[in-house]
Amino acid sequence: MLVLEPDGVWTPQGLKTGHVVEIEDGWIIGVVPAPRHPVSHPLPGRILLPGLVNAHSHAFQRAFRGHVQWRSAEHDDFWSWRDAMYAVASRLDPEGVEAVSALAFLEMAEAGVTRVGEFHYLHHQPDGTRYADPDELARRVIAAAMSVGIRIALLRVAYARGGPGVPLRPDQARFGDADPDDVLAALQRLDGATADPRITLGLAPHSVRALDADWLRALSAFDGPVHAHVSEQPAENEAAIAEHGASPLAVLADAGLVRGGFTAVHLTWPLAGDLELLQAAAGSVCVCPSTELDLGDGFLPVEARLRLPLCLGSDSHARIDLFAEARDLELHARGLAGRRNVLTPPGQRHGLAHRLLQAATVAGDRALGGAGQGIAAGAPADLVAVDLRRTAAWGVPPLEAIAFTATPEWVDTVWVAGEPIVSGGYHPKAEAIRARARPWLG
Ligand SMILES: [Zn+2]
Repeated sequence: MLVLEPDGVWTPQGLKTGHVVEIEDGWIIGVVPAPRHPVSHPLPGRILLPGLVNAHSHAFQRAFRGHVQWRSAEHDDFWSWRDAMYAVASRLDPEGVEAVSALAFLEMAEAGVTRVGEFHYLHHQPDGTRYADPDELARRVIAAAMSVGIRIALLRVAYARGGPGVPLRPDQARFGDADPDDVLAALQRLDGATADPRITLGLAPHSVRALDADWLRALSAFDGPVHAHVSEQPAENEAAIAEHGASPLAVLADAGLVRGGFTAVHLTWPLAGDLELLQAAAGSVCVCPSTELDLGDGFLPVEARLRLPLCLGSDSHARIDLFAEARDLELHARGLAGRRNVLTPPGQRHGLAHRLLQAATVAGDRALGGAGQGIAAGAPADLVAVDLRRTAAWGVPPLEAIAFTATPEWVDTVWVAGEPIVSGGYHPKAEAIRARARPWLG
């Protein structure tokens, strides 16, 4: 029995002070005002949140953080960045994939993340040849998450072409599958091999540009969370209209993929009818503010922010800071709308901080197939203690301090299923994981 006694517990009902959180066998069994058992962990000055959830990650892309910021190409945009990213993808062998993924997941754990949605598309050898174990790289990525101790939803990507009528480029050969059954079979194999409850699976049709309508229809047989890149770039919309006469989201919907449990990643350029379609299907949007700005993608429109459930991802890992991603949901909306408090629910004191922290926690968990219960009896004990004993938080209401000022350095202790993976800001494998990744960075 673990009994945590922080200064405050952020629950689905709001911030509770004077409460303890009781944990047994990895589960929260109570959030109660008076301890029924001796307090095992006094946490003065700290606020307890549900673990942060990073719902969209390409872990291997951590390898080239900062190394593509100096490009002097006359025209540098999403597409030229993608060429640089493919070059990095081509030189990672299984050891490199695992080492760099572990580094990304370590950084997430240190930043309070307890669950990642890994949008995994490195499947084969650089020339497209299968590994002896066709799921080698998926298993490596899963092993990386397990070595750090965070939960992983492996979103197994389907990728079949370079664009409408265009075969895979040589530097895309690692991503490709021969037919949709290969993708569904890979998911079945991985499912059979993953008894650990920290590991779950989902399907990721990469994008409408990477799959034709027959592929999309065949993939709709999958039962579980589905994530896809949708309308990140205007060129993607133009290609979908030319090929299908419909928006990328409408094409996915026609194939039967847009339903409860569907997450549109980015949606920076939704077309007419897309928001209504996603709303009717009870789907959500995964916003990746730092990557979307880093790549010059644009901004999710304000109307979409107001109408749809939002979760967050650090995507290319130019930055891993879910607090910052969460506040950017609101700050970018202010920049777009020319006013303050755009996402604030009417009449709710602390409502904006509550909403932003939901995007960084329970909404991501739901998008990955979890129950998204937050800190409540019956929920998994995935928790983060944020330390407010610092000048920057002095005199600031706690939830607003976290939503509008916190950085990963404020993360004190992180528990997954009741086990501490980060204590006092320190992960016990940090040095070893960093050293293993070092040869692959750059
Ligand atoms: Zn992505």
